[in-house]
Amino acid sequence: MAAVARILAPNSAFQTRFFFLAKRFVAGDTIASALEAVRALNAEGLTATLDFLGEDVTNERDAEHTRDTYLEMLAAIEREALRTNVSVKLTALGLTIDEGLCTDHLSAIVERAARLPDPFVRVDMEGSAVTDATLRTFETVFAKHRNVGPVIQAYLKRSPRDIERAIALGARVRLCKGAYSEPEEIALRDMPSIRRSYLRMAEALLQRGTYPALATHDPRVIRAVRDFASGHGIGKERFEFQMLYGVRPELQRELARAGYNVRVYVPFGTHWAGYFYRRITERKENALFVIRSLVTR
Ligand SMILES: Cc1cc2nc3c(=O)[nH]c(=O)nc-3n(C[C@H](O)[C@H](O)[C@H](O)COP(=O)(O)OP(=O)(O)OC[C@H]3O[C@@H](n4cnc5c(N)ncnc54)[C@H](O)[C@@H]3O)c2cc1C
Repeated sequence: MAAVARILAPNSAFQTRFFFLAKRFVAGDTIASALEAVRALNAEGLTATLDFLGEDVTNERDAEHTRDTYLEMLAAIEREALRTNVSVKLTALGLTIDEGLCTDHLSAIVERAARLPDPFVRVDMEGSAVTDATLRTFETVFAKHRNVGPVIQAYLKRSPRDIERAIALGARVRLCKGAYSEPEEIALRDMPSIRRSYLRMAEALLQRGTYPALATHDPRVIRAVRDFASGHGIGKERFEFQMLYGVRPELQRELARAGYNVRVYVPFGTHWAGYFYRRITERKENALFVIRSLVTR
């Protein structure tokens, strides 16, 4: 594991040389390439959320660089009138260096985003070591700016409480299953239980939440959400589905054609290893795709 982490470490020669492997899941290494991908999605009736890849920064300079990249990105989105908002990981804004510094950086991004037609800023959720700090930082910024919302992971046993808290606040939640490796003391580990938990929370959000985002590629979950919404008179305009760039693109388009709001999470940047590692370890289809790209290159 340590060897894998070393090979995949940010800025390693691996990331530069093997970008072609990540290409299906990562829109490119520059803001321009990410905007190009968003333009293509918009043309097909899909919206997007842009993520500048990077996490776990260990010095203030890198945290400032993340903030500045988001500010630059927001200006470019505004200039090009694209239908996208942004998603950000707080450890890339210095959460583990200094929570106050991270709060200031997030506030700066949220304030700048407020001038855009889609002003929303999503705070991604990372591993359980930072769940509390992430939710705390989100709430501090949310107290002043309503255009920011958290992600809740269905596999965490604490999440039903966090969902109720977000509903009470009136915050927009993205619900996902959860992508990190967590111990069984705090997380559900089997797919049927995670799915059940996801659906219980999705139902609460659909009935009582504020424009929830249901992030999943799971056809069973998507079907259950669609049935629940139509069975309870919850209109398609009251929630959105979210999926990852490069994953089940045909399903994304099918849902959009059926009249659902579909937002695609579009990551870009040179620090793609952590994101890529989570994608290939969570599904064998993703790993097989990567192996095929190596063989056919
Ligand atoms: C927009 C978005 C944002 C996210 N943000 C976060 C976050 O902030 N924090 C976090 O921890 N996690 C996040 N995730 C990841 C999430 O937690 C899951 O790890 C990931 O979505 C896999 O779960 P799933 O329900 O999509 O599919 P899985 O549980 O992996 O698979 C269920 C079914 O979905 C279908 N499927 C899934 N992937 C594929 C594929 N590649 N090809 C074909 N079929 C497939 C298959 O039918 C499969 O049986 C996010 C996911 C999305 C979509």
